Amino acid sequence: MTTSHYIAGHWVEGQGSDCISVNDPALGQPFAELMAASVSQVDQAVAAARSALPAWKSTCASERAAFLRGFAEQLGQRREALVTLQMRNNGKPRHEAEIDLDDAIATFGYYAELAEQLPSKNCTVPLAAPGFTARTRLEPVGVVGLIVPWNFPLVTSAWKLAPALAAGCTVVLKPSEVTPLIEQAYGQIADALGLPAGVLNIVNGKAETGAALSNHNGLDKLSFTGSNSVGSQVMRSASAQCRPVTLELGGKSAIVVFDDCDVDQAVEWIVAGISWNAGQMCSATSRLLVQDGIADALLPRLQAALENLRVGNPLTEEVDMGPLTSQAQWLKVASYFATAREEGLQCLAGGHALDREGWFVSPTLYTDVPKDSRLWTEEIFGPVLCARRFASEEQAIAEANDSRFGLVATVCSADLERAERVADALEVGHVWINSVQAVFVETSWGGTKGSGIGRELGPWGLSAYQSVKHVTRCLG
Ligand code: NAD
Repeated sequence: MTTSHYIAGHWVEGQGSDCISVNDPALGQPFAELMAASVSQVDQAVAAARSALPAWKSTCASERAAFLRGFAEQLGQRREALVTLQMRNNGKPRHEAEIDLDDAIATFGYYAELAEQLPSKNCTVPLAAPGFTARTRLEPVGVVGLIVPWNFPLVTSAWKLAPALAAGCTVVLKPSEVTPLIEQAYGQIADALGLPAGVLNIVNGKAETGAALSNHNGLDKLSFTGSNSVGSQVMRSASAQCRPVTLELGGKSAIVVFDDCDVDQAVEWIVAGISWNAGQMCSATSRLLVQDGIADALLPRLQAALENLRVGNPLTEEVDMGPLTSQAQWLKVASYFATAREEGLQCLAGGHALDREGWFVSPTLYTDVPKDSRLWTEEIFGPVLCARRFASEEQAIAEANDSRFGLVATVCSADLERAERVADALEVGHVWINSVQAVFVETSWGGTKGSGIGRELGPWGLSAYQSVKHVTRCLG
């Protein structure tokens, strides 16, 4: 049994009723277990964050920046352990686990820099009215609850934790019950750096623990990344208390391939957009829109590329794609394979679970998928690509935008003017032109429509944890 909750600067055992199994998805076997935090431990964590707030928000920004740089350095020092744990618990191929770690390191480094620039943001406001002066103060929002999913455990929490600490907030982080060990590194680093007790608290658990945190009346803000169904419950809790909330939710993103593309290059982008992290990405480009003039050449090569992906256990084999991270996700993806058979979809590759131990599925391609198919409209969260053909730029834009989600999109075209025009017309938070899933800490992350509320990363990610205050003085 692992001691896994970090509250008020101490590691404590969970006193909740749920026992959480931590699994190796490539074997379909547990390798650790821990007890969830109880509701009263969530209370203790929020109370610890509340009592740490006055001192933490009064530290000078350069002191907070030094802690953030310490997080970046210490993540680097734990590289091999963290990469291996992600391979074992998430089923990520080594190179993807390394990219995630580097992303988390870059995030802490970036927000250290923004923290150092904070004093210059607290500045005088030029006023047209004579006889008055005004100045801006960017203050921390206060005590924030951070709830994260399992698909990029180090990364999604870094995108919240680093700007929250930079802004001067204190934090209660709840990792996913599917990957509860990886983010313990943040507590261990807090210990190693001597971060004041209560500034960062970590409570593990399932829905009950998450709900105890999101319903807690001791929070000033809740930032949530996860599914739309839980996101809407989190939003209801926030609305009951008229409290701000950031929501990073699901996606069903389009990749639009025009017929002036190099076919092999386009295939590479399409495959990456659906097979990285075994398609368990909010930003997976799972709807392929391919122009008539290139479709017949592209689809057979895409089929071959998906069939040639090396799928296996990242800890023991050279792989391009690992298993799905949880049995629940494996069952969910399998249920979409059954739906595709019921709907009579044309399957060009995969369409089934792999006949081996662990939670593996084959990279899958359905073509000419009807617009009202559940596979075209719903987030599957697996390596399942659905394709449709289009004739004109207008049709491509209309079909890409015809979704209740609006997280990201990819546009592939040799005509850069057209690619930029299409990017401008897409109703999403982030568009990649002739590249795929390239996320830079300086640019924003977040979606339109059902993909959420608010933005992470860049200066917007810091603003999410700041409250704007003005002090206006009469000179007369
Ligand atoms: P999930 O919604 O099931 O769980 C997310 C977190 O919420 C977990 O920590 C979970 O324990 C907690 N939780 C569960 N029930 C809760 C409740 N009632 N109240 C409060 N917290 C509760 O999502 P998941 O399966 O872990 O992650 C997959 C989803 O996350 C996908 O929909 C994916 O698109 C989304 N996601 C979005 C982004 C983004 O940036 N937009 C990034 C990653 C994942």
